[in-house]
Amino acid sequence: MSRNTALIVTDMLNDFVHGSLKCERAGKLVPVLQTLIAGAREAGIPIIYSNDAHLPADVEIDVWGEHAMAGTEGAEVIPELAPQPGDSQIPKRTYSAFHGTDLGSVLRGLDADRVLITGVHTHICGLHTAADAFFRGFKIAVVTDATDAFTEEDRAHGLDYIETMYGAEMVTSEQLLAAWKEASE
Ligand code: ZN
Repeated sequence: MSRNTALIVTDMLNDFVHGSLKCERAGKLVPVLQTLIAGAREAGIPIIYSNDAHLPADVEIDVWGEHAMAGTEGAEVIPELAPQPGDSQIPKRTYSAFHGTDLGSVLRGLDADRVLITGVHTHICGLHTAADAFFRGFKIAVVTDATDAFTEEDRAHGLDYIETMYGAEMVTSEQLLAAWKEASE
């Protein structure tokens, strides 16, 4: 029996879109994600924001410098994609949305066995989240037009790796929106 899908929105935070770890290409994801999130809400697909919330001692700070520090504005989801009541926000302290977080139990609570991966960066947090989803037995789909990275090369590398290594499905937001619409008719 097929169970539920959950939409994971990764690191669409002020620091990643505008601030200290700005991804120049993240801005163009905003309208895509706005439409996708609205469609998911309408279809009753749970929305889970996976958000960096770093502490100064986190190992990643040595790699990237300070970004998305817990409790700061930089660590908040950008206003255009602001979470609504009923959405989940899961703080994380490294790349994977699962590592040391409640995501696994949240997904179990939702009876979800499939995750849709979106946000930044495809080849870093997207890739590590996909790896941990794979290790835990979740089906994975990457929404190819709703994820990006520093460069097209990074994005393409991330997509290719996730598809090849984890057997992930590659879908577009248009395909998902059409499928959700059809399911509701
Ligand atoms: Zn980080």
